[in-house]
Amino acid sequence: MNNIREGLNNSKRIVIKVGTSTLTYDTGKVNFTRIDKLARIISDLQNQGKQIVLVTSGAIGVGVDKLKLRERPQTIPEKQAVAAVGQCELMHIYSKFFSEYGHAVGQILLTRDVVEDENRRQNVINTFETLISQDIIPIVNENDSVSVEEIKFGENDTLSAIVAQLINADLLVILSDIDGLYDSDPRNNPEAKIIPLVEEITEELEGCAGGAGTSRGTGGMITKLYAAKLAMESNVNMVIASGKNPDIIIDIINGKQIGTLFASKKGVRV
Ligand code: GLU
Repeated sequence: MNNIREGLNNSKRIVIKVGTSTLTYDTGKVNFTRIDKLARIISDLQNQGKQIVLVTSGAIGVGVDKLKLRERPQTIPEKQAVAAVGQCELMHIYSKFFSEYGHAVGQILLTRDVVEDENRRQNVINTFETLISQDIIPIVNENDSVSVEEIKFGENDTLSAIVAQLINADLLVILSDIDGLYDSDPRNNPEAKIIPLVEEITEELEGCAGGAGTSRGTGGMITKLYAAKLAMESNVNMVIASGKNPDIIIDIINGKQIGTLFASKKGVRV
């Protein structure tokens, strides 16, 4: 186990996924301190020679804040309009903080049809590779403003695993308001314990995953398990941990036992 954790230190290409609950306060307003810290840590890792790709939610959440709406909109056109505003604002915030730390960012917005079409998939891979080779940090979200039922991922856990697969990442870190996979629902069972290592996703494990996420995000543990399956199949190690303090990214890379590690076959051999 320790070996696998210590092996994470060798990860060069790392996808970091942050959810809306990590980027905003319970009030629904943007958490600038956290985003600033996230940008500083990612910039530092990039300076060390790591290649980071950030998958971010928050287009709708930030749009709701920017437009001073009382709640998330319900209809698809309204959600798409709010996302159009929020995505723009979100990138503005990221660009500002990353610039402070000397880094340029590039926006990539994806829909399912793009990654399912061989040509377009290859084009996206080329864009990622070019950005990475030029030390530009790709920031990815779903293209919510054009996503309708047939072309949407619906949540960014799966999207982050697909991105990790597209760029052959070594590690995917999912930061969320849940600090790992528990053996039973911690909201109902105070004795629930975090499962530190998963080497195979079994039905029993899926039973531990329970349902819904928060009112501000869309994923829950089930979508994270689905992402883990995809990641493990693609030889990508994945860690789920709390996004409260972005310093946790450094601890994870340094091999500390934090959250749940889903070890890929490659990971087990480290
Ligand atoms: N793409 C959505 C957004 O930016 C988030 C999806 C998710 O919460 O996973 O608001």
